Amino acid sequence: MPAVPAVPGMGGLVAVHAHPDDESLWTGALLATWAAAGPATVVTCTRGEAGEVIPASLAHLTGDALGAHREGELAAALAALGVDDHAFLDALVGGVRYEDSGMAWDDEGRAGIGADVPARAFVGVDVDEAAGPLADLLVARRPDVVATYEPGGGYGHPDHVHAHRVTMRAVELAAVCGHRVPVVLWAAFDASVLHAAYAAFTAAPAPAGTYADASAPLPSAATAHVDVVVDVAPVLDRLLGALRAHETQVQAADAVHGVDGVAGRFALSLGRLEPVARHEAYVLAPGSEPGAVAWPAGVQVVAVA
Ligand SMILES: [Zn+2]
Repeated sequence: MPAVPAVPGMGGLVAVHAHPDDESLWTGALLATWAAAGPATVVTCTRGEAGEVIPASLAHLTGDALGAHREGELAAALAALGVDDHAFLDALVGGVRYEDSGMAWDDEGRAGIGADVPARAFVGVDVDEAAGPLADLLVARRPDVVATYEPGGGYGHPDHVHAHRVTMRAVELAAVCGHRVPVVLWAAFDASVLHAAYAAFTAAPAPAGTYADASAPLPSAATAHVDVVVDVAPVLDRLLGALRAHETQVQAADAVHGVDGVAGRFALSLGRLEPVARHEAYVLAPGSEPGAVAWPAGVQVVAVA
């Protein structure tokens, strides 16, 4: 693993994500803000081999070829965010390869497990097999903050749900192996901001290949109350750069002006416009002690749980 620069007084951040693009989509502002002040690490569980490719010019990429391409996208996104410490989870474990499990939408618009789950799918990986080496990384890096998805995986993707399980287990194991992580953040959306953004997007023309949907169902990460927010404006250019680096997965990433609570927008392969909120939001996992952390400028604890 590469060396982490020592920054006096500033603890580290470790973000654990299921696929390349999730670090930018779910925690991009936090990573860019943190990396400018102290050590920031991203761990990615799979290479996103099952992702749907947006540009027709790259539609030939599938399976391992897509995974290899997305490794390059991830490297470019991390460079845009200023994060220089990255590991794939299976490389930490050694001698294994964890694959994107894929997903399917159900009738209610919720993500779930698909019909074709690969043999090496991450969702089938034993939690302790993956959590042990991740705990070793946490003990080595000694982060103040670990960030990942809430128990619903943000929006239900089985790999995200599993990444949540593995991460929470790793935090537990690290605590008995020499490092208790003071704060675990679960990526969240302010539900009222999402509703307002979906409605506002219908009032303006949508970029080619995208559409606005005011009645879009809210993901499991949407909540009425958030605990920690990151000011997106100072890092918006980095965040948009990171989103654009994931060209197979993200389209129409741009700044937005004049919509309350919204700094930007983008669409995934579905084409539905999604907001980049003015404040990237998190909830504190149970047991977190936000008062024990020296937060960088731009990150605010809204309320102590
Ligand atoms: Zn994902």
